[in-house]
Amino acid sequence: MFETLTKAPGDKILALMGEYAADPRPAKIDLGVGVYKDEAGTTPVMSSVRKAEQRILESEKTKTYLGIAGNKGFANAVLDLALADSVDRSRVRIAQAPGGTGSLWVLMQLVNRARPGTTVWVSDPTWPNHNPIAVNSGLKVATYPYFDAETRGVKFDAMLAALDRLGPDDVVLLHGCCHNPTGANLTPEQWDRVAESLARTGALPFIDLAYLGFGDGIEPDAYGTRKVLSMVPEALVAFSGSKNFGLYRERIGAAILVARNAEAADITQSQLLNIIRGAYSQPPDHGAEIIRTILEDKELRAEWERELDHMRARMIGLREKLAEAIRQRSNSTDFDFIAEHRGMFSLLGLENSVVEHLKATNGIYMIGDSRINVAGIPEDRVGDLAEALLAATR
Ligand code: PMP
Repeated sequence: MFETLTKAPGDKILALMGEYAADPRPAKIDLGVGVYKDEAGTTPVMSSVRKAEQRILESEKTKTYLGIAGNKGFANAVLDLALADSVDRSRVRIAQAPGGTGSLWVLMQLVNRARPGTTVWVSDPTWPNHNPIAVNSGLKVATYPYFDAETRGVKFDAMLAALDRLGPDDVVLLHGCCHNPTGANLTPEQWDRVAESLARTGALPFIDLAYLGFGDGIEPDAYGTRKVLSMVPEALVAFSGSKNFGLYRERIGAAILVARNAEAADITQSQLLNIIRGAYSQPPDHGAEIIRTILEDKELRAEWERELDHMRARMIGLREKLAEAIRQRSNSTDFDFIAEHRGMFSLLGLENSVVEHLKATNGIYMIGDSRINVAGIPEDRVGDLAEALLAATR
Protein backbone atom coordinates (compact mmCIF):
# COMPACT_ATOMS: atom_id res chain seq x y z
CA MET A 1 0.00 0.00 0.00
CA PHE A 2 2.33 2.75 1.21
CA GLU A 3 5.04 2.08 -1.37
CA THR A 4 3.06 4.43 -3.60
CA LEU A 5 3.93 7.38 -1.37
CA THR A 6 6.86 9.77 -1.53
CA LYS A 7 7.98 11.88 1.39
CA ALA A 8 5.79 14.92 2.10
CA PRO A 9 7.58 18.25 2.60
CA GLY A 10 8.47 18.93 6.25
CA ASP A 11 7.14 21.96 8.16
CA LYS A 12 9.66 24.79 7.90
CA ILE A 13 8.81 26.36 11.25
CA LEU A 14 9.15 23.05 13.11
CA ALA A 15 12.47 22.41 11.32
CA LEU A 16 13.72 25.82 12.44
CA MET A 17 12.74 25.00 16.06
CA GLY A 18 14.87 21.86 15.79
CA GLU A 19 17.83 23.83 14.44
CA TYR A 20 17.50 26.35 17.25
CA ALA A 21 17.38 23.66 19.92
CA ALA A 22 20.53 22.07 18.50
CA ASP A 23 22.47 25.39 18.36
CA PRO A 24 25.01 25.32 21.26
CA ARG A 25 25.60 29.11 21.31
CA PRO A 26 24.33 30.51 24.65
CA ALA A 27 23.60 33.95 23.14
CA LYS A 28 21.19 32.58 20.51
CA ILE A 29 17.81 34.31 20.14
CA ASP A 30 14.60 32.56 19.03
CA LEU A 31 12.29 34.85 17.06
CA GLY A 32 10.84 31.93 15.09
CA VAL A 33 7.96 29.91 16.43
CA GLY A 34 4.58 31.63 16.86
CA VAL A 35 3.86 31.27 20.55
CA TYR A 36 3.76 34.08 23.10
CA LYS A 37 6.70 34.19 25.49
CA ASP A 38 6.93 36.02 28.79
CA GLU A 39 9.83 37.98 30.30
CA ALA A 40 11.56 34.70 31.17
CA GLY A 41 11.20 33.35 27.64
CA THR A 42 8.60 30.76 28.66
CA THR A 43 4.95 30.18 27.73
CA PRO A 44 3.30 29.48 31.10
CA VAL A 45 -0.32 28.48 31.78
CA MET A 46 -2.26 31.71 32.43
CA SER A 47 -3.34 32.17 36.04
CA SER A 48 -7.02 32.58 35.08
CA VAL A 49 -6.78 29.34 33.08
CA ARG A 50 -5.18 27.48 36.00
CA LYS A 51 -7.99 28.63 38.33
CA ALA A 52 -10.67 27.65 35.82
CA GLU A 53 -9.07 24.22 35.50
CA GLN A 54 -9.12 23.77 39.27
CA ARG A 55 -12.82 24.59 39.36
CA ILE A 56 -13.52 22.20 36.49
CA LEU A 57 -11.60 19.41 38.20
CA GLU A 58 -13.73 19.82 41.31
CA SER A 59 -17.13 20.31 39.69
CA GLU A 60 -17.13 18.18 36.54
CA LYS A 61 -19.62 15.34 36.95
CA THR A 62 -19.39 13.48 33.68
CA LYS A 63 -17.26 12.95 30.61
CA THR A 64 -20.13 11.88 28.43
CA TYR A 65 -20.50 13.21 24.87
CA LEU A 66 -21.32 16.89 24.43
CA GLY A 67 -22.80 16.88 20.94
CA ILE A 68 -21.48 17.78 17.51
CA ALA A 69 -21.52 21.55 18.03
CA GLY A 70 -19.70 21.27 21.36
CA ASN A 71 -19.98 23.30 24.55
CA LYS A 72 -23.00 25.66 24.44
CA GLY A 73 -21.79 28.02 27.18
CA PHE A 74 -18.49 28.39 25.34
CA ALA A 75 -20.32 29.08 22.08
CA ASN A 76 -22.44 31.89 23.54
CA ALA A 77 -19.49 33.41 25.38
CA VAL A 78 -17.37 33.45 22.20
CA LEU A 79 -20.18 35.07 20.21
CA ASP A 80 -20.52 37.78 22.86
CA LEU A 81 -16.76 38.28 22.94
CA ALA A 82 -16.04 38.38 19.21
CA LEU A 83 -19.28 39.51 17.56
CA ALA A 84 -21.03 41.45 20.35
CA ASP A 85 -24.20 42.95 18.83
CA SER A 86 -22.81 43.42 15.30
CA VAL A 87 -25.31 41.01 13.77
CA ASP A 88 -28.72 39.60 14.74
CA ARG A 89 -28.06 36.26 16.45
CA SER A 90 -31.00 34.62 14.66
CA ARG A 91 -28.73 34.60 11.57
CA VAL A 92 -25.65 33.29 13.43
CA ARG A 93 -24.65 29.66 14.10
CA ILE A 94 -21.51 28.35 15.74
CA ALA A 95 -19.73 25.04 16.20
CA GLN A 96 -16.79 24.56 18.52
CA ALA A 97 -13.83 23.07 16.64
CA PRO A 98 -10.26 21.91 17.36
CA GLY A 99 -8.34 25.20 17.26
CA GLY A 100 -8.44 27.98 14.72
CA THR A 101 -7.07 25.46 12.23
CA GLY A 102 -9.92 22.98 12.79
CA SER A 103 -12.38 25.87 12.47
CA LEU A 104 -10.82 26.97 9.18
CA TRP A 105 -10.92 23.36 8.00
CA VAL A 106 -14.61 22.71 8.64
CA LEU A 107 -15.58 26.11 7.21
CA MET A 108 -13.53 25.53 4.04
CA GLN A 109 -15.29 22.16 3.72
CA LEU A 110 -18.59 24.00 4.05
CA VAL A 111 -17.64 26.47 1.31
CA ASN A 112 -16.74 23.55 -0.94
CA ARG A 113 -20.14 21.95 -0.35
CA ALA A 114 -21.85 25.20 -1.30
CA ARG A 115 -19.61 26.06 -4.29
CA PRO A 116 -17.33 23.12 -5.18
CA GLY A 117 -13.89 24.22 -6.33
CA THR A 118 -14.54 27.94 -5.91
CA THR A 119 -11.72 30.40 -5.26
CA VAL A 120 -10.53 31.59 -1.87
CA TRP A 121 -8.64 34.88 -2.12
CA VAL A 122 -5.91 35.21 0.49
CA SER A 123 -3.62 38.14 1.29
CA ASP A 124 -0.16 38.21 -0.25
CA PRO A 125 1.47 36.97 1.94
CA THR A 126 -0.63 35.00 4.40
CA TRP A 127 -0.28 32.34 7.11
CA PRO A 128 1.25 29.39 5.20
CA ASN A 129 -1.41 26.95 6.40
CA HIS A 130 -4.28 28.79 4.67
CA ASN A 131 -3.28 27.44 1.29
CA PRO A 132 -3.20 23.70 2.15
CA ILE A 133 -6.41 23.92 4.21
CA ALA A 134 -8.24 25.43 1.24
CA VAL A 135 -6.68 23.16 -1.40
CA ASN A 136 -7.20 20.01 0.69
CA SER A 137 -10.86 21.03 0.99
CA GLY A 138 -11.17 21.10 -2.81
CA LEU A 139 -10.96 24.87 -3.24
CA LYS A 140 -8.69 27.01 -5.39
CA VAL A 141 -6.48 29.71 -3.90
CA ALA A 142 -5.59 33.10 -5.41
CA THR A 143 -3.97 36.13 -3.78
CA TYR A 144 -4.90 39.79 -3.42
CA PRO A 145 -2.19 42.46 -2.89
CA TYR A 146 -1.53 43.19 0.77
CA PHE A 147 1.98 43.85 2.06
CA ASP A 148 3.97 46.75 0.70
CA ALA A 149 7.63 45.73 0.85
CA GLU A 150 8.69 49.39 0.59
CA THR A 151 6.67 50.87 3.45
CA ARG A 152 6.07 47.59 5.32
CA GLY A 153 2.45 48.74 5.57
CA VAL A 154 -0.65 47.61 3.70
CA LYS A 155 -0.91 48.29 -0.06
CA PHE A 156 -4.45 49.36 0.54
CA ASP A 157 -5.40 50.87 -2.82
CA ALA A 158 -4.22 47.77 -4.69
CA MET A 159 -5.95 45.50 -2.17
CA LEU A 160 -9.25 47.33 -2.49
CA ALA A 161 -9.05 47.42 -6.28
CA ALA A 162 -8.58 43.63 -6.29
CA LEU A 163 -11.52 43.08 -3.90
CA ASP A 164 -13.73 45.39 -5.98
CA ARG A 165 -13.28 43.06 -8.98
CA LEU A 166 -14.62 39.96 -7.13
CA GLY A 167 -18.12 38.53 -7.31
CA PRO A 168 -20.60 36.34 -5.39
CA ASP A 169 -18.72 33.10 -6.16
CA ASP A 170 -15.53 34.37 -4.52
CA VAL A 171 -14.42 33.94 -0.92
CA VAL A 172 -12.15 36.55 0.69
CA LEU A 173 -10.01 35.41 3.60
CA LEU A 174 -9.20 38.33 5.90
CA HIS A 175 -7.12 38.38 9.08
CA GLY A 176 -9.44 39.95 11.66
CA CYS A 177 -6.48 41.58 13.41
CA CYS A 178 -2.74 41.07 14.01
CA HIS A 179 -1.94 39.95 10.46
CA ASN A 180 0.31 36.90 10.29
CA PRO A 181 3.07 37.06 9.03
CA THR A 182 3.35 40.78 8.37
CA GLY A 183 2.04 42.61 11.49
CA ALA A 184 0.63 45.24 9.09
CA ASN A 185 -3.08 45.84 9.67
CA LEU A 186 -6.03 47.75 8.27
CA THR A 187 -7.15 50.97 9.99
CA PRO A 188 -10.82 51.22 11.04
CA GLU A 189 -11.46 53.47 8.00
CA GLN A 190 -9.89 50.87 5.71
CA TRP A 191 -12.06 48.15 7.29
CA ASP A 192 -15.10 50.32 6.54
CA ARG A 193 -14.11 50.43 2.88
CA VAL A 194 -13.42 46.70 2.74
CA ALA A 195 -16.84 46.04 4.28
CA GLU A 196 -18.49 48.34 1.70
CA SER A 197 -16.68 46.55 -1.12
CA LEU A 198 -17.78 43.11 0.12
CA ALA A 199 -21.37 44.31 0.54
CA ARG A 200 -21.31 45.66 -3.02
CA THR A 201 -19.66 42.71 -4.82
CA GLY A 202 -21.32 39.93 -2.83
CA ALA A 203 -17.98 38.14 -2.29
CA LEU A 204 -18.11 36.05 0.90
CA PRO A 205 -15.96 37.36 3.77
CA PHE A 206 -14.14 34.65 5.71
CA ILE A 207 -12.42 36.13 8.73
CA ASP A 208 -9.57 34.36 10.50
CA LEU A 209 -9.66 35.67 14.07
CA ALA A 210 -6.68 33.98 15.72
CA TYR A 211 -5.27 36.85 17.79
CA LEU A 212 -8.24 38.74 19.29
CA GLY A 213 -6.81 40.99 22.04
CA PHE A 214 -3.18 40.72 20.92
CA GLY A 215 -3.18 43.95 18.86
CA ASP A 216 -4.73 47.00 20.52
CA GLY A 217 -7.30 45.34 22.81
CA ILE A 218 -10.38 43.15 22.48
CA GLU A 219 -12.72 45.90 21.26
CA PRO A 220 -10.37 47.56 18.72
CA ASP A 221 -9.21 44.16 17.48
CA ALA A 222 -12.82 43.07 16.88
CA TYR A 223 -13.67 46.24 14.93
CA GLY A 224 -13.06 44.85 11.44
CA THR A 225 -14.90 41.58 12.04
CA ARG A 226 -17.92 43.33 13.54
CA LYS A 227 -18.00 45.99 10.83
CA VAL A 228 -17.92 43.43 8.03
CA LEU A 229 -20.55 41.25 9.70
CA SER A 230 -22.83 44.24 10.22
CA MET A 231 -22.84 44.98 6.48
CA VAL A 232 -22.98 41.70 4.59
CA PRO A 233 -25.70 39.06 4.22
CA GLU A 234 -23.37 36.08 4.71
CA ALA A 235 -19.97 35.58 6.37
CA LEU A 236 -17.70 33.05 8.05
CA VAL A 237 -15.42 33.52 11.07
CA ALA A 238 -12.79 31.10 12.38
CA PHE A 239 -12.04 31.94 16.01
CA SER A 240 -9.03 30.60 17.92
CA GLY A 241 -8.47 30.51 21.69
CA SER A 242 -4.89 29.29 21.28
CA LYS A 243 -3.13 32.63 21.71
CA ASN A 244 -5.40 34.88 23.77
CA PHE A 245 -6.07 32.14 26.35
CA GLY A 246 -2.66 30.48 25.91
CA LEU A 247 -4.46 27.18 25.22
CA TYR A 248 -2.35 26.14 22.23
CA ARG A 249 -2.27 22.40 22.89
CA GLU A 250 -5.89 22.14 24.04
CA ARG A 251 -7.00 22.78 20.45
CA ILE A 252 -9.87 25.13 21.04
CA GLY A 253 -11.57 27.27 18.41
CA ALA A 254 -14.95 27.99 16.90
CA ALA A 255 -16.43 27.95 13.41
CA ILE A 256 -19.00 30.74 13.09
CA LEU A 257 -21.38 31.29 10.20
CA VAL A 258 -23.69 34.18 9.40
CA ALA A 259 -26.52 33.44 6.94
CA ARG A 260 -29.15 35.57 5.21
CA ASN A 261 -31.90 34.62 7.65
CA ALA A 262 -32.69 32.11 10.40
CA GLU A 263 -33.93 29.46 8.01
CA ALA A 264 -30.81 29.66 5.82
CA ALA A 265 -28.70 29.61 8.99
CA ASP A 266 -30.33 26.34 10.11
CA ILE A 267 -29.76 24.70 6.74
CA THR A 268 -26.14 25.86 6.54
CA GLN A 269 -25.49 24.79 10.14
CA SER A 270 -26.92 21.33 9.39
CA GLN A 271 -24.26 20.94 6.66
CA LEU A 272 -21.53 22.18 9.01
CA LEU A 273 -22.56 19.67 11.69
CA ASN A 274 -22.72 16.95 9.05
CA ILE A 275 -19.13 17.76 8.03
CA ILE A 276 -17.97 17.60 11.66
CA ARG A 277 -19.80 14.33 12.33
CA GLY A 278 -18.04 12.74 9.37
CA ALA A 279 -14.63 14.10 10.36
CA TYR A 280 -14.09 13.80 14.14
CA SER A 281 -17.68 13.42 15.37
CA GLN A 282 -17.38 15.94 18.22
CA PRO A 283 -14.82 18.44 19.50
CA PRO A 284 -12.76 17.93 22.68
CA ASP A 285 -14.24 19.80 25.66
CA HIS A 286 -11.45 20.82 28.02
CA GLY A 287 -10.35 24.07 26.34
CA ALA A 288 -13.96 25.10 25.73
CA GLU A 289 -14.93 24.51 29.35
CA ILE A 290 -11.94 26.58 30.49
CA ILE A 291 -12.96 29.50 28.27
CA ARG A 292 -16.61 29.19 29.32
CA THR A 293 -15.63 29.17 32.99
CA ILE A 294 -13.45 32.27 32.58
CA LEU A 295 -15.82 34.32 30.45
CA GLU A 296 -18.92 33.55 32.54
CA ASP A 297 -17.27 34.47 35.85
CA LYS A 298 -16.79 38.17 36.60
CA GLU A 299 -13.61 37.78 38.63
CA LEU A 300 -11.93 35.21 36.42
CA ARG A 301 -12.79 37.25 33.37
CA ALA A 302 -11.28 40.39 34.87
CA GLU A 303 -8.14 38.43 35.73
CA TRP A 304 -7.93 37.01 32.20
CA GLU A 305 -8.33 40.50 30.70
CA ARG A 306 -5.51 41.78 32.94
CA GLU A 307 -3.27 38.95 31.80
CA LEU A 308 -4.16 39.59 28.16
CA ASP A 309 -3.49 43.34 28.65
CA HIS A 310 -0.10 42.50 30.07
CA MET A 311 0.85 40.26 27.15
CA ARG A 312 -0.26 42.90 24.66
CA ALA A 313 1.52 45.75 26.45
CA ARG A 314 4.70 43.69 26.66
CA MET A 315 4.70 43.04 22.91
CA ILE A 316 4.05 46.72 22.11
CA GLY A 317 6.80 47.72 24.56
CA LEU A 318 9.28 45.37 22.88
CA ARG A 319 8.32 46.76 19.48
CA GLU A 320 8.97 50.30 20.67
CA LYS A 321 12.27 49.36 22.34
CA LEU A 322 13.61 47.63 19.24
CA ALA A 323 12.57 50.44 16.89
CA GLU A 324 14.11 52.99 19.26
CA ALA A 325 17.37 51.02 19.64
CA ILE A 326 17.71 50.85 15.84
CA ARG A 327 16.88 54.54 15.45
CA GLN A 328 19.52 55.53 18.01
CA ARG A 329 22.23 53.44 16.39
CA SER A 330 21.47 54.29 12.77
CA ASN A 331 19.93 57.72 12.95
CA SER A 332 17.29 56.45 10.54
CA THR A 333 13.59 55.69 10.80
CA ASP A 334 13.82 52.70 8.45
CA PHE A 335 12.75 50.21 11.12
CA ASP A 336 10.08 52.38 12.77
CA PHE A 337 7.47 50.16 11.16
CA ILE A 338 8.21 47.56 13.87
CA ALA A 339 6.60 49.92 16.40
CA GLU A 340 3.63 50.57 14.10
CA HIS A 341 2.88 46.90 13.49
CA ARG A 342 0.56 45.01 15.84
CA GLY A 343 0.22 41.47 17.09
CA MET A 344 2.91 38.93 17.67
CA PHE A 345 4.69 39.27 14.33
CA SER A 346 6.50 41.68 12.06
CA LEU A 347 7.73 40.93 8.58
CA LEU A 348 11.09 42.71 8.38
CA GLY A 349 11.28 42.52 4.60
CA LEU A 350 14.83 41.07 4.54
CA GLU A 351 16.27 38.90 1.80
CA ASN A 352 16.52 35.22 2.70
CA SER A 353 20.33 35.52 2.49
CA VAL A 354 20.21 38.13 5.27
CA VAL A 355 17.99 35.85 7.39
CA GLU A 356 20.51 33.02 6.89
CA HIS A 357 23.40 35.37 7.72
CA LEU A 358 21.78 36.46 11.00
CA LYS A 359 21.30 32.81 11.96
CA ALA A 360 24.86 31.75 11.05
CA THR A 361 26.69 34.81 12.40
CA ASN A 362 24.59 35.95 15.34
CA GLY A 363 22.47 32.93 16.29
CA ILE A 364 19.34 34.99 15.61
CA TYR A 365 16.54 32.72 14.36
CA MET A 366 13.55 33.99 12.38
CA ILE A 367 11.32 32.48 9.70
CA GLY A 368 12.87 32.38 6.20
CA ASP A 369 10.57 35.14 4.92
CA SER A 370 12.03 37.37 7.72
CA ARG A 371 9.03 37.14 10.06
CA ILE A 372 9.98 37.77 13.69
CA ASN A 373 7.98 36.89 16.80
CA VAL A 374 8.34 40.08 18.86
CA ALA A 375 7.45 38.22 22.08
CA GLY A 376 10.70 36.27 21.59
CA ILE A 377 12.89 39.38 21.88
CA PRO A 378 14.83 39.13 25.16
CA GLU A 379 14.40 42.48 27.02
CA ASP A 380 18.09 42.67 27.89
CA ARG A 381 19.26 41.89 24.35
CA VAL A 382 17.36 44.54 22.40
CA GLY A 383 20.61 46.45 21.73
CA ASP A 384 22.40 43.31 20.47
CA LEU A 385 19.49 42.57 18.18
CA ALA A 386 19.42 46.13 16.83
CA GLU A 387 23.15 46.02 16.11
CA ALA A 388 22.95 42.64 14.41
CA LEU A 389 20.03 43.77 12.21
CA LEU A 390 21.85 46.95 11.20
CA ALA A 391 25.14 45.14 10.51
CA ALA A 392 23.35 42.55 8.36
CA THR A 393 21.41 45.09 6.32
CA ARG A 394 24.10 47.74 5.78
N1 PMP B 1 -4.76 31.53 11.74
C1 PMP B 1 -3.60 32.19 11.88
C2 PMP B 1 -3.38 33.42 11.07
C3 PMP B 1 -2.64 31.72 12.76
O1 PMP B 1 -1.50 32.39 12.89
C4 PMP B 1 -2.90 30.56 13.53
C5 PMP B 1 -1.90 30.02 14.49
N2 PMP B 1 -0.60 30.03 14.14
C6 PMP B 1 -4.12 29.91 13.33
C7 PMP B 1 -5.03 30.42 12.44
C8 PMP B 1 -4.53 28.64 14.02
O2 PMP B 1 -4.20 28.47 15.30
P1 PMP B 1 -4.65 27.21 16.14
O3 PMP B 1 -5.10 26.15 15.21
O4 PMP B 1 -3.42 26.81 16.89
O5 PMP B 1 -5.74 27.70 17.02
